[in-house]
Amino acid sequence: MTEDYLLRDNETGFDRVLAFSVPARHARGRVVRLGPVLETVLSAHDYPPLIKHLLAEALALTALMGALLKEEGSQLTIQAQSEGGPVDLLVCDYRDGEVRGYVRHDDVAVAALGENPGLEALFGKGYLAITFDLAATDERYQGVVPLEGASLAQACENYFAQSEQIPSLIRISVRSSGPRCMAGGLLLQHLPDSEEGKERLHAGDDHPDWEHVSILAGSVTHGELVDPTLTMEELVWRLFHEEKEVRVEPLKPLQRGCRCTVEHYQSILSRFPEDQRVEMRDDDGMIPVDCAFCSKILRIPA
Ligand SMILES: [Zn+2]
Repeated sequence: MTEDYLLRDNETGFDRVLAFSVPARHARGRVVRLGPVLETVLSAHDYPPLIKHLLAEALALTALMGALLKEEGSQLTIQAQSEGGPVDLLVCDYRDGEVRGYVRHDDVAVAALGENPGLEALFGKGYLAITFDLAATDERYQGVVPLEGASLAQACENYFAQSEQIPSLIRISVRSSGPRCMAGGLLLQHLPDSEEGKERLHAGDDHPDWEHVSILAGSVTHGELVDPTLTMEELVWRLFHEEKEVRVEPLKPLQRGCRCTVEHYQSILSRFPEDQRVEMRDDDGMIPVDCAFCSKILRIPA
């Protein structure tokens, strides 16, 4: 039994998000580790290594940003869409600790890419849409940023800077070589005077508190983010131990989840006109529907 495997079975293991804050610096953050959940999502698809790596990165981002949501039933969706790139669609979402995702791509074009392609090589001219659906108020916040930079993490940083004016630092590490696949991530944000109902003041890349904590967080290494012998609590401690106070709070465990139930598709199909539904039927009178997230084909009674 490997060390990785042992650690997954205890509370310091994988498929968890840790919330933390550095109150005196008005900084909040999340750390994520994905292991078996990531493998479950990836195992539903037969993706080449490059696409697996991309989806693993996207799922870690989804878990980090999704874990910012407070109310049950709220959802975070990230969708990368391109014009003319080898990857034409990537969708991941998070709701109540459940994550899922898939990638639509051209196998031949992806095989022709070199190692570590940037976003432009993968997506061509593409856009990243990040959507927060808040359950309590039924509000939707969506921001769209160009898929520019070296990584999806960088595009997400741009989203927070441009759409929400929240200085953010995001680091993701994926380890997909060897028998196990794992991903780790860190998100840090600066929210001065951000209590409910109060206007945010002085947020900006040049704020001394932000400069300070973002340098500390930015010192995290790719190895540390996915080191199974280092717990997420230890990682936060290692980065911020010189701060006066650091609060940590483990959030609910992550799971792979999908909403592709017969009832779900029945409600979608019921919105189609009767003659179209008749056309969709197979010889047994069922309508086959495939779920892109889990590559399952469901047969829905017409
Ligand atoms: Zn599904």
